[in-house]
Amino acid sequence: MSSATAPAKPRVRVFAVAGAWLLAVALACAAAYHFSAERAGAALRAKAERHAAALALDLNGALEKVETLPFVISLQAQVQQGLQHPGDAARIDALNHYLAEVQQRAQVAAAYVIDHNGLTIAASNWQDVQTFVGNNYGFRPYARAALAGDVGRFYAIGTTTSLPGYFLAHPVADPGGSHGRPLGAVVLKISLDAFERSWAGGDERAALVDRNGVLFLASQPDWKYRSLKPLDDAARREIAASQQYTGRRIDPLPAAAAALPVVEQPVGPLGWRLMLFVDPAPARQAARAMAFGTALLLLAAALGAHAWSQRRAHARSLDAARAALSEASTQLEQRIAERTAELVRANRDLAERYRELQQAEQLLRETQNELVQAGKLGMLGQMAAGMTHELNQPLTAVKAFADNAVAFLDHGDPDSVRENLQHISDACSRMGRLIGQLKGFARKSEDLVGPVDLAASIRNAALLLEADYRQHGAALSITALPSARVMGDSLRIEQVLVNLMKNALDAVAGADERSVHLVLARDGDDAVVTISDSGPGLAPQARARLFEPFFTTKPSGQGLGLGLAISSSIVQAMGGQLAATDPPGGRGVGGAQFVLRLPLLDTEEETA
Ligand code: ADP
Repeated sequence: MSSATAPAKPRVRVFAVAGAWLLAVALACAAAYHFSAERAGAALRAKAERHAAALALDLNGALEKVETLPFVISLQAQVQQGLQHPGDAARIDALNHYLAEVQQRAQVAAAYVIDHNGLTIAASNWQDVQTFVGNNYGFRPYARAALAGDVGRFYAIGTTTSLPGYFLAHPVADPGGSHGRPLGAVVLKISLDAFERSWAGGDERAALVDRNGVLFLASQPDWKYRSLKPLDDAARREIAASQQYTGRRIDPLPAAAAALPVVEQPVGPLGWRLMLFVDPAPARQAARAMAFGTALLLLAAALGAHAWSQRRAHARSLDAARAALSEASTQLEQRIAERTAELVRANRDLAERYRELQQAEQLLRETQNELVQAGKLGMLGQMAAGMTHELNQPLTAVKAFADNAVAFLDHGDPDSVRENLQHISDACSRMGRLIGQLKGFARKSEDLVGPVDLAASIRNAALLLEADYRQHGAALSITALPSARVMGDSLRIEQVLVNLMKNALDAVAGADERSVHLVLARDGDDAVVTISDSGPGLAPQARARLFEPFFTTKPSGQGLGLGLAISSSIVQAMGGQLAATDPPGGRGVGGAQFVLRLPLLDTEEETA
């Protein structure tokens, strides 16, 4: 469960962070775009504003330059005379020449004079095919205004030439007239085409718009004679009546153009507006570049932040690892110190324990020696009765042989005396041997360790018990290797053997068949002495406790129960084992069997 959800959490975090970052980037880009668009737009507008002011200044200058010209011309005598005598060809001709000169000097498109009906009587272009002369312009607002005594101003496409221009008309006063009606009017047509052409290359799209919202000059040719918004009926009627745009359809500007931001300046006395349409594309482009730059910057910042955080995380994990390492090493040192202290303590305990053990061992050894001694003494006591009997018999014999020898000496029979003396000597030797064994047994032997011939020990033990066996009519058979050397104390080994052979004798003493077999053999690196008897065997309750000190089944005065206990400890001290085993026929079949096992020094394979 935990393994499934554990990696999901950091992933969710990563997505959340990425999402937040993207949102921030989007917001920042939008803000940058907006801000930049605003600024660039404002800059463009300011620039357009300045440009528009300059253009308007130009236009106004041009218009003002000609503003008073028709008035000046109207004061000319030729003009008045021409109007007063329109049939006088010479005067008209002179007027034509004059107007032509004016047109050239003043750099206007045309200069002409209309009579009080609006009929053109003379014109600068009198020689042209499309001359104004003879045409009636009374329907034009400028003509009507001038003929009504006002200054006439009008922009229109020429009905004769189809060329557009600004018409400026001034009434020509009638010097003799009492009611003040003008004789006619002087009209100048001024072309604004040069302005229009000069706008063509500019950054903004420029247009000159009339009172009705019609663009009559435009840097964009397809915008010309279109209106800012659809014209109302009054405007349509007015335009149609004056033939201002010679019957052209005035359509509104395309919506996209009409929606462009605009700066405008008033121009001239007719309520014209010079309009500069600001192209927002560069501003948008700048804004887009700004937004893109911002995105790039933020991306770089994010990458930088990521790299930085990675480095910091790396450094942090390094620090943590270092701290963990030093912590671990501190702990290790501490643990080592603790363990060392424990070991020192344990060592001290061990040393103490060892000392105690040594003391215990010493005590045990002393106790064992005591016990061995006690066992020997006990056995000695038991043997004393037998000994008495054994010694009594030869002593009686010695006395008898001695008495007889005296008698043979009296009879002068020296051979018999010698024979008897020999008998006495033999008996004494036998008694001496018996006593010698007894002496050696009673001696407390301590640390007389050396190579011991087991066969010899068996012979000595057998000799020691020979009288006992004979007394009880028991047969002792011995099968032994000629020599089997083990490491130990010979007296103690004999003590063990005597003990085992004596127990066997005790066991067979009350039995019908009274035989004891002793076998000395080799088993691997051990010498093995097996003593089996034809006695009743080991009682079941005795088997488990045989080697306990003071365990005995014998009547008091006959056994101390120390024999096997001491023997076992002696054998163990020599690196051997003593055990009661079942006889070859099985338990209870015939007698008991004890096995003594001691590590061999060397052996001779022969048997005797
Ligand atoms: P003790 O001979 O003084 O009783 P031991 O330690 O020598 O002490 O023997 C302990 C007991 O083991 C004996 O009392 C006897 O019951 C039993 N025992 C030893 N040897 C034999 C044997 N060969 N047959 C039957 N019982 C034996």
